[in-house]
Amino acid sequence: MPRPHLEIRDVVLGYTDARNGTWFQATAALTLAIDAGQVMTLVGPSGCGKTSLLNAIAGLVPAAGGEILIRGTRVTGPGIDRAVVFQDYALLPWRTVWDNAAFGLTLAARRAGAGDLRRRVDTALALVGLTDFAKSYPYQLSGGMQQRVGIARALVVEPEILLMDEPFAAVDAITREVMQEELLRILQARPMTVVFVTHSIDEALLLGDRVAVMSARPGRVREVLQVPFPRPRAPRGLRAAPEYLALRERIWDLLSDGRGG
Ligand code: ADP
Repeated sequence: MPRPHLEIRDVVLGYTDARNGTWFQATAALTLAIDAGQVMTLVGPSGCGKTSLLNAIAGLVPAAGGEILIRGTRVTGPGIDRAVVFQDYALLPWRTVWDNAAFGLTLAARRAGAGDLRRRVDTALALVGLTDFAKSYPYQLSGGMQQRVGIARALVVEPEILLMDEPFAAVDAITREVMQEELLRILQARPMTVVFVTHSIDEALLLGDRVAVMSARPGRVREVLQVPFPRPRAPRGLRAAPEYLALRERIWDLLSDGRGG
């Protein structure tokens, strides 16, 4: 058996209160393994540590215990093998769409060369459907389009691992569905290993090869469910399938259970 691409082994996450030095444990020991090219979605109540885990994989937050391995090598900080898409887009308002997308790579591009940067940014903007908006500024774009820029900025890095933290939570319901379909299309065109945090059971099932259901206080992985639907996936057909409804019910039960306990 080949080794998983990403391994989270007994990872404990927590924070020290800067005011009094007390330690707050956000999660119990978390263990997950994700194979190359697979999408793992994380669902769970607010505060169970989803964002903390994503940030730990990104190398932005140290683990208080355990280890995170990428192809067997321990994560000790950020790297260009990983890219993060944030919920609030985090775009620079004074930069154009093109420059915002390029921003993900400006340091690495010094090595890669300007021609390569141009190719990567143009390819990423084409993938998210923003070629015609390259010279626009963020304020000229809708929320959904701004998040496309956020995704393009991650894609220019050509990451092996894409980390997405509720990327569609701030857009309206219809745009959200469009963006989910876009992401499915992008992953067909450019497969990556993905960890995707969401509050939505439907989003978790639509996008994930597996869904990790978490519970709170302290956060733990309650169960990891296989999502057996083949790709490419058609959201509308999927939602009507009996197997889909059964999985949805199961996740709902796990989440309601977790809230009570
Ligand atoms: P989720 O993404 O599942 O909502 P988070 O990872 O954001 O959960 O948070 C997990 C717990 O850690 C929460 O209790 C939260 O208040 C706490 N927490 C998150 N970030 C910090 C931080 N920078 N400093 C202190 N506590 C934090």
